Amino acid sequence: MSTGREFADLQGKCALVTGAGRGIGRAIALELARAGARVVCNDIDPRTATETAALIHLEGREALPYTADVADGEAVRRMVQEVVAAVGHLDVVVNNAGIEPSSPILDMPEQMWDRTLSVNLRAVFLTSQAAGRVMRDQGGGVIINVASIAGVRTPLALRAHYCASKAGVYGFTKACALEFAAYNIRVNCVCPGVIVTPMTARARRDPDIMARWQREIPLGRLGTPEEVAKVVRFLASDEAAYVTGQAYFVDGGKAMH
Ligand code: NAP
Repeated sequence: MSTGREFADLQGKCALVTGAGRGIGRAIALELARAGARVVCNDIDPRTATETAALIHLEGREALPYTADVADGEAVRRMVQEVVAAVGHLDVVVNNAGIEPSSPILDMPEQMWDRTLSVNLRAVFLTSQAAGRVMRDQGGGVIINVASIAGVRTPLALRAHYCASKAGVYGFTKACALEFAAYNIRVNCVCPGVIVTPMTARARRDPDIMARWQREIPLGRLGTPEEVAKVVRFLASDEAAYVTGQAYFVDGGKAMH
């Protein structure tokens, strides 16, 4: 008989969340910790990574802060090696770290394009490769990538680099799921809509943009980081044991058309 308590139970699992210092990444780290996972909270900013780990400790759960730039291959491989050396296994990876600078294509410096693609897409490959090797050798695992509706359905002006990177994450997720299925590694992505985080803070201060979003979003409101985190928690758990290569839209219906 089901007690309900086993839902999304990650007891004994080790989860790595990138960009866990704030926003959606912090909510995911907290959610996975509440489900019982020991969570490695990665961020490029040591202060915020430590803050997230401290919030998890306050709830009596286990967490480790880890500072690394996920666009740096050496740093990513070292991070995965050190996590496995410390914990013994790595069961869940959430590729969440992302940046969203703004520029018209005609004025965009190459460096802005390259950095956005490196943090948002190359890092997903780097982490999936390093963690995938560990998961293959240990007999399985789960990878969840944070893409965006902007890469798949609703492109954004002044964010061509961002949209391209997120379309790449969507395609990579599916190809990776195909290759990694043989190793019992499930790979899925979530595509958030407009979520209340520091990334959207500037746009949220503009009443015209807010009014447009409210019109465009069937549920009539922006999403919370916790609402994204709950879907990630489901995908990370054995409740989603037969789900791979999928994209879950967490967007209040914005991209349904
Ligand atoms: P956020 O508030 O800006 O948080 C992103 C976190 O990632 C920050 O803590 C940031 O650190 C960290 N980070 C940036 N570059 C990094 C790197 N190279 N290595 C490690 N960590 C790095 O963003 P968010 O809104 O929570 O977004 C999280 C993810 O969801 C992103 O992939 C984003 O594209 C995606 N998403 C967000 C929305 C939305 O509406 N918010 C919608 C769709 C998709 P710093 O603070 O030091 O920069």
